[in-house]
Amino acid sequence: MFEQLEFLLPLVSKPVQYVGGELNATVKDWDTAAVRWALMYPDAYEVGLPNQGIMILYEVLNELPDVLAERTYAVWPDLEKLMREHRVPQFTVDSHRPVGDFDLLGVSFATELGYTNLLTALDLAGIPLHAAQRTDDHPMVIAGGHAAFNPEPIADFIDAAVLGDGEEAVLEITDAVREWKAQGQPGGRAELLSRLGEVDGVYLPGAYDVSYLPDGRIAEIVRNTERVAHRVAKRTTMDLDEWPYPKQPLVPIAESVHERMSVEIFRGCTRGCRFCQAGMITRPVRERSIQGIGEMVEQGLKASGFSEVGLLSLSSADHSEIREITQGLADRYEGTGTGLSLPSTRVDAFNIDLANEISRNGRRSGLTFAPEGGSERIRRVINKMVSEEDLIRTVATAFGAGWRQVKLYFMCGLPTETDDDVVQIAHMAHRVIRAGREATGSKDIRCTISIGAFVPKPHTPFQWAAQEHPDIVDSRLRKLRVEINSDRRLGRNVGMRYHDGKPALIEGLLSRGDRRVGRVIERVWRDGGRFDGWSEHFSYHRWVAACTAELACLGVSLEWFTTRERGRDEVLPWDHLDSGLDKDWLWDDWQDALSGREQDDCRWTPCFDCGVCPSMGTDIQVGPSGRQLLPISPAGR
Ligand code: SF4
Repeated sequence: MFEQLEFLLPLVSKPVQYVGGELNATVKDWDTAAVRWALMYPDAYEVGLPNQGIMILYEVLNELPDVLAERTYAVWPDLEKLMREHRVPQFTVDSHRPVGDFDLLGVSFATELGYTNLLTALDLAGIPLHAAQRTDDHPMVIAGGHAAFNPEPIADFIDAAVLGDGEEAVLEITDAVREWKAQGQPGGRAELLSRLGEVDGVYLPGAYDVSYLPDGRIAEIVRNTERVAHRVAKRTTMDLDEWPYPKQPLVPIAESVHERMSVEIFRGCTRGCRFCQAGMITRPVRERSIQGIGEMVEQGLKASGFSEVGLLSLSSADHSEIREITQGLADRYEGTGTGLSLPSTRVDAFNIDLANEISRNGRRSGLTFAPEGGSERIRRVINKMVSEEDLIRTVATAFGAGWRQVKLYFMCGLPTETDDDVVQIAHMAHRVIRAGREATGSKDIRCTISIGAFVPKPHTPFQWAAQEHPDIVDSRLRKLRVEINSDRRLGRNVGMRYHDGKPALIEGLLSRGDRRVGRVIERVWRDGGRFDGWSEHFSYHRWVAACTAELACLGVSLEWFTTRERGRDEVLPWDHLDSGLDKDWLWDDWQDALSGREQDDCRWTPCFDCGVCPSMGTDIQVGPSGRQLLPISPAGR
């Protein structure tokens, strides 16, 4: 259908994002494919193309001879309007097929603020918004990604969700669809859905009934068919070396947020930061071997021509062989113009060594650390074990080694937080500037503090916490700004970045909401809600109005879902979805948080029984592996 689309493209912004044909994109023969997947990242191309989850599944599926996978992204409102006027359906960028023609539509949600974009895509594709109204002619709509660990707010709109790692699950889903089609589609859509529900890690919202107490809390969640499990357990890909994807990274043809190739060096995190859903739901730690990393970097650079490699994970400096990896790669690519990047959040001198190492072949931009909380007390609450002395020592070392900019990440609105915890961020920033000036003898030192509003997430110890109201978050941030500028000689070298707290409250509603929130999402979408993760498109007023209209009659509200603390016995909307974490352990950790007690990282200390390893039949996997980064010969010579 490219002809239909082509004449609209000169009329929209950034038309190149819709044409496909990227290096390493795959177009396979439609007619000979037994199973056809459309994979969607529900945001603009520039954000969606670099997404590793989609890239991995795209390649894993396209490697199967009889399976094809194509990509689709959210279209901007200018193109959406024209597509509606000219009856052009949601399309894939690879061969410009209507999404409605595929067997499956897999949607990866990194954030809940993409939910309205799912509805746009379904509607443009001609797929009924409600799963219950779909027929044999419509694709199965399957959600994945971190938000799928509580897909209840979108339960009405999806047929299934995949919990956890997708590599193996998509292959098993593909097998089920292939077999059902080869058998002549017995039992139609309902039978296929039941078969999908038998795949480990696949959750069918329609196979569970939710009932409510008079006060609005959930009474119980029970399955309505024996063909699904009481609780659905997540999938865990244990040996990353067996899954060296992407081997052929997609190279964007339009501007995108990350223009580099990425290698995931490990999955999971056991540092135990209590606010971090990603760390909790991706346990246990599984490291990719140094040899596997070296091979992926080499192959990926050859296949893509990128000049930068990102070593990705939740805390990359924690790979047990990170020194050997960075030194080996820096040696290998010395003189080639290939740069390395490492998301660095660890606050210690070791991290500066690493930063010096990886900047050998590239420019020395800023260093980023994430203390997350302004006071020692609040950092104990969130289990972010960083002392201010360590931070100052680390940044002084960085400035002494030639770095001139430091970026510090914080959150505001954390459980038990007071104004003073936030105001202390200013004192920390002032100390950073002073330490930088002392270490360098120069006044030209910069510290940027970037602050996000805290959103309590499911499957974390803070899942019971009351979210702070945006007015309080905003007032604390105003006090912080005043404090930063209370000393102009220091304050003028401190930059402050933050958004107001309102989008975070809506993210909180979508993160911890239940099925009743689906009505709100649909109303917001019908009222024009699109791209809610973008401040220029987000309308707080629209969300508040939709909550009032849809929730008041049910006896609940936006505040009820967000700023209300939950009790130990409350049935949470995601209790039937098993991330491996023991609920009693999560509760104990929440109590430890409230009394400021820290928890060590179980990679280096004895297991503290969070429940993941035994329930998954797995174990922490860290080096040293005894393997080497091969080949050793430097590429530049
Ligand atoms: S079960 Fe023990 S070793 Fe495994 S992630 Fe949890 S605390 Fe760590």
